Amino acid sequence: AASYVGFDSITRQIEKKLLKRGFQFNVIVVGQTGLGKSTLINTIFASHLIDSKGRLEADEPVRQTTDIHPVSHVISENGVKLRLNIVDTPGYGDQINNENCWDPIVKYIKDQHSAYLRKELTAMRDKYIVDTRIHCALFFINPTGHSLRPIDIIVMKKLSEVVNVVPVIAKSDSLTPEERDNFKSKIRAELVYHNIRLYPFDTDEFDEDELKHNDSIRSMIPFAVVGSERNVIIDGKPVRGRKNRWGVVNVEDERHCEFVYLRDFLLRTHLQDLIETTAQIHYEAFRSKQLLALKE
Ligand code: GDP
Ligand code: MG
Repeated sequence: AASYVGFDSITRQIEKKLLKRGFQFNVIVVGQTGLGKSTLINTIFASHLIDSKGRLEADEPVRQTTDIHPVSHVISENGVKLRLNIVDTPGYGDQINNENCWDPIVKYIKDQHSAYLRKELTAMRDKYIVDTRIHCALFFINPTGHSLRPIDIIVMKKLSEVVNVVPVIAKSDSLTPEERDNFKSKIRAELVYHNIRLYPFDTDEFDEDELKHNDSIRSMIPFAVVGSERNVIIDGKPVRGRKNRWGVVNVEDERHCEFVYLRDFLLRTHLQDLIETTAQIHYEAFRSKQLLALKE
């Protein structure tokens, strides 16, 4: 079905485990204003909202500040509920002077780790800690077709030290398929060149299938996406899409863009791993550093 997301396909056992701990998924979106962050988030999640009016946030005027604001939702699919926190970071990288523009974002992510650690260390701690740790940073790349901006490289590097970073090419309908594929390889080469270690990470415990799966994800990153909050008519049927100067784009058609791959990746194939990697790699690194500092 058009509204298919996939987290309902998580096995009952995992679901039970996750629900007990609070099945909570926290995503931060990072990128320049106007790159389609809010639109994409709404394209992915809005049809699954059960606690508001069908849009994840109200339209607001463009904000120039870098205030970071989380919005909580509950989404559901076939009776499986997922608590979703979307953290918007308006205005990132828009300033003339972008020096340290990533600081508030990195700080926000660390603050969540810190809050979690404090709760963990409380003697009479709650059985299940409310988890606001960010599981995924969707990083929006301007679809220039040329290369990453130096600021993007710096910010991706900073972010990748504290969170799972998943880059996407925003508004990829503005590129021809050929431009898009060239841009993707170019970006992948730049990420390697600058030694930016992005999610997914391989571990020793992985079997061949899991390693292969990660490779296939790596070969797809950055996902070239298109978002839309409107329907267009294709072959007499309304579909999530946009009209552009080349014709109509069906957001959910893999021949048009990689939206479906991103959605599957986020909410089906890698949802649990994003959550676990956050706890086991990013949070653990933060935690051991803090505890070491306490001892000194
Ligand atoms: P944000 O500032 O990053 O949150 O961007 P918005 O989601 O508010 O989108 C900014 C503008 O870009 C709006 O007019 C959207 O309709 C448009 N837009 C969003 N996604 C796409 C896309 O994938 N392709 C195209 N062509 N336009 C888009
Ligand atoms: Mg926005």
